[in-house]
Amino acid sequence: MNLSFNTKLAEGYSSNSQIARVLTENWVKENSYCPCCGNFPLSEFKNNSPVAVFYCLKCSEEFELKGNRLEVSPEFAQVCVVA
Ligand SMILES: [Zn+2]
Repeated sequence: MNLSFNTKLAEGYSSNSQIARVLTENWVKENSYCPCCGNFPLSEFKNNSPVAVFYCLKCSEEFELKGNRLEVSPEFAQVCVVA
């Protein structure tokens, strides 16, 4: 797992929030895996949502990227433990 951001992607952006979003989204795309089934990598929904939404091709779970962390609902975590 690569723990550093690809800062070249931030070139051309002036706002800190835009830079943070570009870097964290890219990092998730390249480094994250499904916390439920371990599938790698996660895929990103291409929509105009204010938050980045990723999904797992294997188990179809969805995750929202807020700030710099993936949100997983408590219900979902329970399903994972049971499965
Ligand atoms: Zn999965």
